[in-house]
Amino acid sequence: MRAVAVILLFMSSITAGAETAETIFINGNIYTVNENQPSAQAIAVKNDRIIFVGANADGESFRVGKTHIVDLAGKTVMPGFTDSHCHIFGIGEREMTLNLEGTNTREDFLAKVKERVAQTERDKWITGRGWIETFWKPPQSPTRADLDKIAPDNPVFLTRADGHAAVGNSAALKTAAVTRETANPFGGEILKNPRTGEPTGMLLDNAMDLVAKNIPPPSEAEREQALLLAIKRETELGWSEIQNAGSELSDQEIIRRAYATGKVKLRMVNAAYGPGEAANELLKKGATLNAFDHRFTQRTIKVIFDGALGSRGAALLAPYSDKPDSSGFLTQKPEELRPMFEEALRRGIQVETHAIGDRANRTILDLYEHAFNAVPPEKRKVLVGGASSGEPGVAELRHPKAGDVRWRVEHAQILSEQDIPRFAKLGVIASMQPSHAISDLFFAPARLGMERLAGAYAWNSLIKSGAIICGGSDAPVERGEPMIEFYAAVTRCPLPEHGLPVGAPSGVELRSKEDSPQREGWHPEQAVSREQALKMFTINAAYAAFEEADKASIEVGKLADFSVLSTDIMKIPAPEILKTRCEMTVIGGEVVYENR
Ligand SMILES: [Zn+2]
Repeated sequence: MRAVAVILLFMSSITAGAETAETIFINGNIYTVNENQPSAQAIAVKNDRIIFVGANADGESFRVGKTHIVDLAGKTVMPGFTDSHCHIFGIGEREMTLNLEGTNTREDFLAKVKERVAQTERDKWITGRGWIETFWKPPQSPTRADLDKIAPDNPVFLTRADGHAAVGNSAALKTAAVTRETANPFGGEILKNPRTGEPTGMLLDNAMDLVAKNIPPPSEAEREQALLLAIKRETELGWSEIQNAGSELSDQEIIRRAYATGKVKLRMVNAAYGPGEAANELLKKGATLNAFDHRFTQRTIKVIFDGALGSRGAALLAPYSDKPDSSGFLTQKPEELRPMFEEALRRGIQVETHAIGDRANRTILDLYEHAFNAVPPEKRKVLVGGASSGEPGVAELRHPKAGDVRWRVEHAQILSEQDIPRFAKLGVIASMQPSHAISDLFFAPARLGMERLAGAYAWNSLIKSGAIICGGSDAPVERGEPMIEFYAAVTRCPLPEHGLPVGAPSGVELRSKEDSPQREGWHPEQAVSREQALKMFTINAAYAAFEEADKASIEVGKLADFSVLSTDIMKIPAPEILKTRCEMTVIGGEVVYENR
């Protein structure tokens, strides 16, 4: 509605010859993601919206004396990237605690912990995140005993990169009284030495809480610092919006306070964790749309439904190939989600659910379908409006057309082939992270066996079935960089630092066995085209948040969000994508980051 109004306004002002730009960006190699006008040289901006897209010469007519001209010097411009799934506080906290990303050997990992121990007072907790043993030789998780040797006097608790497992030393386990006798909590596992029965120090999913709840929580000031640090990092990487995959009420307060200062430019679509307090509040008080100058929206409940594949917590239909006594676990009881889902449909609240294993995915699609049947389209609502109605956050409830409620499955990693067409059929969006595939495919063949890999990270199968995929990074689970995600989506090949040669020497996509460094089971045919990858991180991401009329393509009337890149990622050889830098991030027509 609003975009239409803006376009009409624009057209009438052209006829009046009165439209003038505040800023005109010229000499760009612009990819618009608008099929009617795929490329352009210049973008003119007034207030926070685009008023012209086209050739340099035609942009001149919007120029007056005080118009600011930004010369892009031939650089490539894309609509602002959206990370459809990340954890914004976790990104900041990764910078603030012991960051164990990129530790490619066990020795390296232990050395980093040892160094931190030396700088930490006796008895104080040492926490950190980012290790992943799958690249270590041998690929074995660290143990309590490893940590006891270097940290006898400090409780240590280090979360695996995926956030679904952590290793603690004896001092950490002691705070939770975890012993050989302790039973697994629901939705979690305490790994024990098969010979002695003693805990190894590794805790999976809900079992992590046993220890985590004893760690003094970060102060509010530290949380706020983490948020601001993360926001700064995201804009520097070229993200103009992030979709935060879950928050408690306390986080929401910190986020709102940060936006209220007017200093935060990054746009955020925030989800509330459910079931529980945060989801209940959202259902009761309703959504917030386009608040703080169109920068903050909250209309989604995020449910976590199973664990992760690496730690064998993903709920599978059949047992793990490398652990025949386990098929993972659901972390919520399906029947308990039903009333919340139905209420969400009636209240115009979107639902997104973390589902990794094929059992979790099938069960959540069943639950969504059940809710859609229980609350037919005429009883459902969606929210429209928001800031455009004058009052930020005041939204209108409307009947969705064709029952279009855009519920999402986060990850949708391992799908039984019969479930793939259900996404398009139900109108459910697959929210996927290309980097997960190129990290996980190192161990996925062992966990799943060759047959099940056919439905794993099955991007092209989903696209062919008519489903919409929005792209994300799941940072801090992955690094959270747009170029890594783009590279992963179009090559489905590992990163150079993960030990395999990268890519073909030329610009050809890595789709044939001969020029691919992929191993058996990586399914190169699931790599997507560059056009598809670009859509995943722009217009599809916007669609997944009901925002496609307002952003994510470079079109007259839309918000002026775009990223300037050092290379043309639509044309360069694939390995060079990883060397591409963000040169400038523009949000709402304002240059919020520039690489100088
Ligand atoms: Zn996540």
